[in-house]
Amino acid sequence: MDARRFLGAVGDGVKSAFAEQRSLLSFDDYLDLFEKSPRAQARGAAQWLRDVVDHFGTYEADAPWGKERRFRIFDLEFAPEARSARVAGHEDVQAAIYRAVSNFVRSGRVNKLILLHGPNGSAKSSIVGALVRGIVGGGDLASFAHLEGEALEARLACPLKDHPLFIVPRKERRQLLEEKCHPTERGGAGDGEFVLSDYVADGELCHYCQQIYAALLAHYRGDYLKVLRHVQVERYYVSGRYQEGAVTVEPQLSVDAAWRQVTADRSHAALPAALHALTLYEPIGALVGANRGLLEFSDLLKRPPEAFKYLLGTSETGRVALESFILHLDEVLIASANEKQLALFKDKDLADFGSFKGRIELVRVPYLRRHRIEKEIYDQQVTAATVGKHVAPHATEVAAMWAVLTRLKKPIPDRYKGEVRDVVDDLAPLEKVKLYENGQAPDRLGLAQAKELRKHLEEVYRESDVYPMYEGRIGASAREIKTAIFNAAQSPHFQCLTPMAVLEELEALCRDKSVHEFLQQEVVDGYHDHEEFVRVVEAELLDTLDEEIRDSMGMVTEGQYRELFGRYLTQVSSWVKGERVRNRITGDYEQPDEARMIEFERIVMQDGEDRGGFRRSLFATIGAYRLDHPDAKEIDTQVIFPDLYKRLRDHYYTERRQQLEHNKSDVLRYLSDDRSALDEKARKHVERTLATLRERYGYCEQCAQDAVMFLMRRRYVD
Ligand SMILES: [Zn+2]
Ligand SMILES: [Zn+2]
Repeated sequence: MDARRFLGAVGDGVKSAFAEQRSLLSFDDYLDLFEKSPRAQARGAAQWLRDVVDHFGTYEADAPWGKERRFRIFDLEFAPEARSARVAGHEDVQAAIYRAVSNFVRSGRVNKLILLHGPNGSAKSSIVGALVRGIVGGGDLASFAHLEGEALEARLACPLKDHPLFIVPRKERRQLLEEKCHPTERGGAGDGEFVLSDYVADGELCHYCQQIYAALLAHYRGDYLKVLRHVQVERYYVSGRYQEGAVTVEPQLSVDAAWRQVTADRSHAALPAALHALTLYEPIGALVGANRGLLEFSDLLKRPPEAFKYLLGTSETGRVALESFILHLDEVLIASANEKQLALFKDKDLADFGSFKGRIELVRVPYLRRHRIEKEIYDQQVTAATVGKHVAPHATEVAAMWAVLTRLKKPIPDRYKGEVRDVVDDLAPLEKVKLYENGQAPDRLGLAQAKELRKHLEEVYRESDVYPMYEGRIGASAREIKTAIFNAAQSPHFQCLTPMAVLEELEALCRDKSVHEFLQQEVVDGYHDHEEFVRVVEAELLDTLDEEIRDSMGMVTEGQYRELFGRYLTQVSSWVKGERVRNRITGDYEQPDEARMIEFERIVMQDGEDRGGFRRSLFATIGAYRLDHPDAKEIDTQVIFPDLYKRLRDHYYTERRQQLEHNKSDVLRYLSDDRSALDEKARKHVERTLATLRERYGYCEQCAQDAVMFLMRRRYVD
């Protein structure tokens, strides 16, 4: 490498980036910049934060009750190094934060403290962390701060990063802002409109800058333009690390703002003589560092009350009174607290809490209740690289499912009317898990009941939202589960991180009742039965293993079920419409084949269900699905009728069970030392099976063997 040429190129790059970014401007230049994009320059902290969030955009995520808006900032795609901190789920929380910030924008001031509350380890800090990463990485959204002094020789930077326009007296500033930004009235402003914030319109130079400004103005006998020659405007970069514009305060650091005298150093000798006589005080602390940005107080309520009560006043007025002067602040305050501390605070200080409520925006951050989303958290952090071995299929899935099971509450039937009331009353924990996951109703229900339950799905999901003991408040935290998974990776019994090892760890965890508080709950109709949940999850795992292994053996494939079901539906559709069916072989039109329909219904219909009603409701369900999904080219009946598919599968499974067992022992024999005992045909078959297990499901030979053995032992050997 030609070092000189390399460094030359780097130097050119840095230089042009520097010029492009224009880090340092004279006040004239800043005014030019302001002309070009007045609204962007006149943003307050809330507007800026909302713009950052908008900058990353949104998309729709599927929930079983419909679509939910997700904000990309929480996906951290822009920060590959932090991808494992992505916020899984929590669309409700995202929406609540966005709503609160938008309200600040509309009212022209940050007038509340956003308090995220929830159980320990419910992603509160990850949520704020993503916002911080977003504003740090927001690139060209950087704002400017005002800076005073003489370039080159000495510089006195404003500790609060005052808005540059503060150097313009208030009356003229307001005229300028109104002329350039065309702000709208507060409250009613819609998208794309601009509200002037109190801070930018009425804010004043901080005490520090004020002193300098006054001294210079006196020195120049009131010549404002001469004072301006000393003013520079600096682009300021948000930096979480340097506590600039995005600051996190831990509970033990309780002094958020203070002031100290600026000690003169040699560079001060270069200041204009007018400033020599000044004794300058500068504000310091987290509130100061976060001005015009975001300040996070983690575990706010762990502090003694007097150390945070003043914040509520600050959040309402944007002011902090220090001994000798008042700070005007413009920053979004986000705090977190665990549920216990919040309850304690409410109990102890009820009167206070009442008056605080108006100044706090409470945002609930519960544990997740959909296991596929919970699994995303683990999958981000549990990888072959982090555990040092292959992660077998379903290892994180069983953990996630168990975690969600521990968090569920029995529904309160009194909240429902009509037929669904009993259905809800009988809902078992695992059934609730599946309902939340993909809107799947229990197989044991008839079609009408299943439909009714699905109709009330969101109601069930949000049933306890307003209760102090809401669902998702108590249970295993993702943190506890991650520990269990990492412990499972150390298991001496398995070469891969297998779901079986995870189950063993969960079982061990259940014995530590004194360590994990959620284990001390009373069992109610099967809910909170955490040890039993390990067995429930194991049974689910066995079903899945059975399915995957069977499929890999090429026994009865999904495609075949689909075909059978498709043929049946064609018959049913003709039957309902009273039409003839085209015979696929002869091409003739015939009456629907009653005998064939009945044969199929014997497999998929519940005992005692009415045949005609069953057919009509299938037909109606497909019709309704078509209406809801007008763009769907082909209808996936497996999505609409998962329960019927399951019955179909179970039926064939029972029929072919013996053959299955035979095949499975071939696999085991192949993987053991007994391989030579297999004939050529059996060996080929096993090899095909293992290849499918690897390619379709992600098993290596080792965990495939573990899975088959586990299945044999638990299901097929008495
Ligand atoms: Zn200042
Ligand atoms: Zn493996």
